[in-house]
Amino acid sequence: MAHTPAATVHNHSIGLQWESSPARRQSIQNFDHAAEILNLDPNTAARLRRPEKIIIVSVPVRMDDGSVEVFTGYRVQHNDSCGPYKGGIRYHPTVDLGEVAALAMAMTWKCGLMNLPLGGAKGGIEVDPLALSRDEMQSLTRRYTAELLAVLGPERDIPAPDMGTNEQIMSWIMDTYSQHAGVITPEVVTGKPVELGGSALRKEATGRGVVYCIEEAAREIGLDLSKATFVVHGFGNVGSVAATELAARGAKCVAVADVSGGYINPAGLSLEALHAHLRRHRTLADFKGGDRVAPGDVLTVPCDVLIPAATGQVITATNAPAVRCRILAEGANAPTMPEADPILLNNGVFVIPDVLCNAGGVTVSYFEWVQGGMHFFWSEAEIDERLSKLMRDAFHRVREFARSRNVSNRMAALCIGIARVDRVMRRRGLYA
Ligand code: NAD
Repeated sequence: MAHTPAATVHNHSIGLQWESSPARRQSIQNFDHAAEILNLDPNTAARLRRPEKIIIVSVPVRMDDGSVEVFTGYRVQHNDSCGPYKGGIRYHPTVDLGEVAALAMAMTWKCGLMNLPLGGAKGGIEVDPLALSRDEMQSLTRRYTAELLAVLGPERDIPAPDMGTNEQIMSWIMDTYSQHAGVITPEVVTGKPVELGGSALRKEATGRGVVYCIEEAAREIGLDLSKATFVVHGFGNVGSVAATELAARGAKCVAVADVSGGYINPAGLSLEALHAHLRRHRTLADFKGGDRVAPGDVLTVPCDVLIPAATGQVITATNAPAVRCRILAEGANAPTMPEADPILLNNGVFVIPDVLCNAGGVTVSYFEWVQGGMHFFWSEAEIDERLSKLMRDAFHRVREFARSRNVSNRMAALCIGIARVDRVMRRRGLYA
């Protein structure tokens, strides 16, 4: 084989915030490990370690009291070898460049694993969405979109909801983009309401995909879900849908957490009561159905299935020894630090890694994008059937790789995703 000279990487132009980010370190550490397993060409690895484009914008917003506040927004486009950039937009107080870049990279591997004709991107604004009024949220979203007009588009980069964003935010992005384009462009976002060209089941897709993976894992380890207990950390879109689906299969929810706190009840929490509380208030604060603890404490409550579905980096070397579940289903992106992985493995925890476990979201986003392009919409039953098939297929491809190469499920999922992008990049070559 011809000798490939090693790549030279100039890293000095990217600032301290990037280098010191735990999320960035976590994603690079996992990538390097997978690249080693794959024996990835060092030149391809050097390209993939860095995003293709980083956009940082100032987002001035006139607040309800007349003052102007300036927020920081990001869009990181990691790789578009396989198709237009695709990835959610997060509104959360801890958003920073390192986190957005890490999440963008994960989207590339996720689309690769699921064989979608899409690339990886992510966006975010450092903001506490609970502290803004509806008008302020709308102004923030429209100005952020306006700042990114040049890089978004149905064939360029297609945002979707993530933590702190939802169908309404997607509607405002779609409207702002369409007003500037002079033509209605629903396909510029996914995760929009059905009446705006959204897809049936997109809202439920991620949580449902999580549960399809849990079903396959439970079958493999001989766990009867109708008698199982589960814990959900993060009771938003992903966590609450996954919880509802598991409860529908007879499983018992023994703890939940959201940003306001954790709530534990070994006898079982009522999902109806949790949903009713959320409809009345914006968080679970003052929920009376369980004992109140700190949000992170629910991660170590004994259960059969643990679903992190909030922020990243919550399972660390410190709390991993105390995690007492049989299946860890990563609804959240990047909940587990690399140091925690061997501890979980040693303790016999069956890990369904994020890149696989929460891929139902981008899968139905892809369906939404396709339906929008065709102006022809599928029924809920058709979408559910396709989602179920793609998730279960991906689960078994990951398990097959993990078994045959004797690597963890996380490494298997990453390797399959990275290998696909590598194949496409090698075919396309390097334009210079
Ligand atoms: P969401 O905003 O609907 O819900 C987030 C939940 O997490 C809320 O209950 C919130 O109170 C809680 N939370 C926030 N900060 C917390 C903290 N510090 N401790 C405990 N709980 C906290 O968001 P979502 O769309 O459900 O996303 C949740 C996770 O799933 C994220 O990691 C996201 O990247 C991932 N994900 C989402 C999708 C999707 O389709 N929405 C797809 C793939 C992955």
